Amino acid sequence: MANAPVQRMSQLMAKTLRDDPADAEVLSHKLLVRAGYVRRTAAGIWTWLPLGRKVLANVERIVREEMDAIGAQEVLLPALLPREPYEATGRWDEYGAELFRLKDRKGGDYLLGPTHEEIFTLLVKDQASSYKDLPVILYQIQTKYRDEARPRAGILRGREFQMKDSYSFDLTDEGLAQSYALHRQAYQRIFARLGLDYRICAATAGAMGGSKSEEFLAPAEAGEDTFADCPNCDYAANTEAITYELKPVDAAGVPAAEDIPTPDTPTIETLAASLGVPASATLKNLLVKVDGEIVAVGVPGDREVDLDKVEAHFAPAEVELVTAEDFVGRPDLVRGYVGPQGLDKVRYIADPRVAPGTAWITGANKQDTHARNVVAGRDFEVDEYVDVVVVQEGDPCPQCGTGLRLDRAIEIGHIFQLGRKYADALKLDVLGQNGKPVRVTMGSYGVGVSRAVAALAEQTADDKGLCWPQEVAPADVHVVAAGKALQTELALDVSEKLSAAGVRVLVDDRAGVSPGVKFTDAELIGVPRILVAGRRAGEGVVELKDRRTGEREEVTVEEALARLT
Ligand code: ATP
Ligand code: MG
Ligand code: MG
Ligand code: MG
Repeated sequence: MANAPVQRMSQLMAKTLRDDPADAEVLSHKLLVRAGYVRRTAAGIWTWLPLGRKVLANVERIVREEMDAIGAQEVLLPALLPREPYEATGRWDEYGAELFRLKDRKGGDYLLGPTHEEIFTLLVKDQASSYKDLPVILYQIQTKYRDEARPRAGILRGREFQMKDSYSFDLTDEGLAQSYALHRQAYQRIFARLGLDYRICAATAGAMGGSKSEEFLAPAEAGEDTFADCPNCDYAANTEAITYELKPVDAAGVPAAEDIPTPDTPTIETLAASLGVPASATLKNLLVKVDGEIVAVGVPGDREVDLDKVEAHFAPAEVELVTAEDFVGRPDLVRGYVGPQGLDKVRYIADPRVAPGTAWITGANKQDTHARNVVAGRDFEVDEYVDVVVVQEGDPCPQCGTGLRLDRAIEIGHIFQLGRKYADALKLDVLGQNGKPVRVTMGSYGVGVSRAVAALAEQTADDKGLCWPQEVAPADVHVVAAGKALQTELALDVSEKLSAAGVRVLVDDRAGVSPGVKFTDAELIGVPRILVAGRRAGEGVVELKDRRTGEREEVTVEEALARLT
């Protein structure tokens, strides 16, 4: 491979900024914009500038190498997709408002792919005819589209983003387990090489369907997931996925409508008293079923609940819709949402932005939207009440009983055993050994490639700026010309020599920019090694600095070259 040419900051299409962008809430967003890696084009839509593109390409390369290593074959499917296959699996509707739907000039329905199970299933249906063609793992690194409700976290949650998605096709359950295990190992290698700190956590399948699923979560303040970690055993799970056994509460004890008080912000205790249910320590919310249907739902990122159906159960005048944003800083409202998973598998999604709940809200209705001031038993009939357990810091580990630790994290990868859901919907069979058709079983596996860049920025940045691990950094060495013509000449000369030796160099050769500004920028940009041609350039002495530790020493040019090559 040809050596990468020296990148000159005097010509770089990127400017560093002194101030954080006004709309930036998370560290990676602030730093990636300030250091000139990305620019916002529209809400949740980003342009990758030269340095950012390099980092993204490095992540892609690592992902590609590790996927190839497990025998996966790279393909590239379209992002613009026809409606029909998604109609066949039900996801055209089920995906809800997150799906970008569009029409062509003839009025035909299309979508921008949020994930590609359907299309890969059809590809294999088209290409594979016999058991001899399986197992197979296919992957792509591609742009995905999701109309995220709150794309506020910069690159962490784009509406257009890069994902590596792969799909396994097997004849047997054992085969699927094997393909899943291969991915698990590949992901461990990918995230280790990226230098990300992560945990493998039990997860729920959500809109994807299927059975077993695990998430790779990278602990970080900016994360939008909460995971529970057992300090005693190997248990780790997204709190969304933790299920305790639930106790149905006797609905016979529900008082008459007129006896139910409706304080503005009922506490769990007053609420429990009004409903005649025990205010046990675990009673944090109520799951309400109406006509056998659960209506107290509203799961961010999950499927939508029919608003009309729910509203029909309420006296319209009493219904006030609120969005998840309304919960921020309002611990008097409620802490989370109850999932529609059925009584034995109810899960409670803690919204980490809201303090532990003291109050009650019933009748969530639409994704991220809830009805306030609706009272069970007064505004609608109640079939059943169930205690729902909110997982909190110190709650017992389902495996060993030790108090759980809770932390915030970024979901960087997710692996699923899908089973035959998609193969059934799209009739994917191959001829088996005995000449009879065999229904194929599938897995699907995602890595947030662009999100990993931001996650890495979150985990590695310090108070001076970005601080990349070498394998993903946009360069190996950042050479700073700190002075006049003499320093610039030396800096460029050293840069060329390093480059000739295969070292990736970014050189700050900008004229009229003070050494102080260049040092600050070098730290902000975060290349792991910094070489300064400064005061003693005339003697052939430069300064070598480690970006992370801040350690610096003066060495001769020869010594510097020897150390860096
Ligand atoms: P999240 O819970 O953060 O919304 P998800 O569970 O919807 O993510 P998956 O469908 O599991 O995402 O997609 C696989 C991977 O793609 C995720 O693990 C994540 O790393 C990445 N990803 C998902 N949504 C986004 C997004 N909006 N921006 C960037 N990366 C994303
Ligand atoms: Mg999502
Ligand atoms: Mg998720
Ligand atoms: Mg996921």
